[in-house]
Amino acid sequence: MDRNISLLQAVLIILVLTILGFVGYHLFTNQKVIQSESSTQSETIENGAFVSIGPQKTAAVMFTFNDNHHFDGTKKELSEALFTAPNSANAFFKTVSYGRFWLEGINDTLGGDIYHVNIPYSNTPCSPANLKQWALSAQNEAIKEGLVPNIYDYIFYFHSGSVCKSLGLPDLNPPGAIIDNFSLRAIAHEGGHAIGFSHASAYTCTGGAGRVTLSDLCEIVEYGDPFDVMGEQGTAQYNGYKRGQIGWLVNSNTQTVLTDGIYTLFPIEEKTMEVQILRIPRTVGPFGIEQFLYLEIRKPGQFENFSVSSPAVSGITLRLAGQYDKPGRSFLLDTHPETESYVDAPLMPGETFTDFETGIAVTVFSIKQNIATIKIKTGAPHVCTYHAPSGNLNIISQTPTSEGTIYLLHADITNNDSTYCPVTTMTIGNLDISSDWKEFDKMSEVNLSPLQRATHPIKLLVPASTVSGTYPISTIITNINTGLSTQITTSLPVTL
Ligand SMILES: [Zn+2]
Repeated sequence: MDRNISLLQAVLIILVLTILGFVGYHLFTNQKVIQSESSTQSETIENGAFVSIGPQKTAAVMFTFNDNHHFDGTKKELSEALFTAPNSANAFFKTVSYGRFWLEGINDTLGGDIYHVNIPYSNTPCSPANLKQWALSAQNEAIKEGLVPNIYDYIFYFHSGSVCKSLGLPDLNPPGAIIDNFSLRAIAHEGGHAIGFSHASAYTCTGGAGRVTLSDLCEIVEYGDPFDVMGEQGTAQYNGYKRGQIGWLVNSNTQTVLTDGIYTLFPIEEKTMEVQILRIPRTVGPFGIEQFLYLEIRKPGQFENFSVSSPAVSGITLRLAGQYDKPGRSFLLDTHPETESYVDAPLMPGETFTDFETGIAVTVFSIKQNIATIKIKTGAPHVCTYHAPSGNLNIISQTPTSEGTIYLLHADITNNDSTYCPVTTMTIGNLDISSDWKEFDKMSEVNLSPLQRATHPIKLLVPASTVSGTYPISTIITNINTGLSTQITTSLPVTL
């Protein structure tokens, strides 16, 4: 891109960054004061999307299926794996949260509340719907044994001897996960989903000469980040962006870089007031900064699956992600795209990464005793502009039944936000039809990338008693990121 921006452009960009960045900060990054675990001082933590701190009341239910009552593991082993062993999930959470988040039981504070039940289901097939059903059934059986679900923050369900695997269940009440083994990897990963975390993904991008670090042609590698338990196999700690999302960082740990300069970065594993996350705005929108380039450095330690010589320790890890207070995932960038591996993704001392789309440039000067000195050029962030969605309502088919006529309509919806805006959810609601008509098989939302179009079915039952005529129908589509909405209408000719 042309790096010589005009004075007007520069003024506009500064204006957007200043007004929206700072207004956005106050509007969307409210702060929460917590007592530290010592209770002698208070800390101001960042407000994230899934803020969760302090003791997490946790129960576990081991269950077997009606066709196989054998569980390969004991309550004692599960108690150790979840709560008491030095490498338990509880110890993992305590470590990654700097002592701000831990698991405990209610009846047995240390050992945890563990139930063992049999459910009236067989263990096939392994659909997500079945896994969820089994968890609910296990909860029901455990209630008969004395479990009171709503006094817990999380309930984890364990099965064994089934070919079915594990699944995070963040929308269960209370949230939890169904897990097929007692390994820390399984519990920390599925427990991460229970908290609300997405996978730690990576980008694989192509440019003129083949694989590149970043371009406008990138694909998502779902589990691509080897430095996070929500990514590739292993038990690496959650990355810094996730710790911000859940409110385990204090405000001073994150520095948003708005001016060119030299910056210092401390390893994410330490409990400190120093800067552990540097982030550079990469896309700004009407509500503030939409995407940052996150910089992080690691040091070897408990629950880190890498050695002192790992590039995550000797270099700087780069990820793209959004604000802490929104759900979302991180995308690791591979600064050594010449190899397919992501283990060498970090940027090493002496190397520079340049984002040719925005002009952001990051140079690692030095790393001494796990503390990095980094030169940052902020560039000119992409600007996202929001527009109301558009669409139309089309009549697709009509099918006579004994109760009346079923009409199938398609709402064709277009997300008109500009290219660099985030993916959003469009809701389809406020369907305005005659009061005795029925909408059924209702779906109320669809996810859309900028400039993407989707077709959303609407099914109506028009009763046989309806008088022939032309009936207006309307529905409202709303972009939940922006609140911008559009009413779409059609006329339904009814001849019965
Ligand atoms: Zn997962």
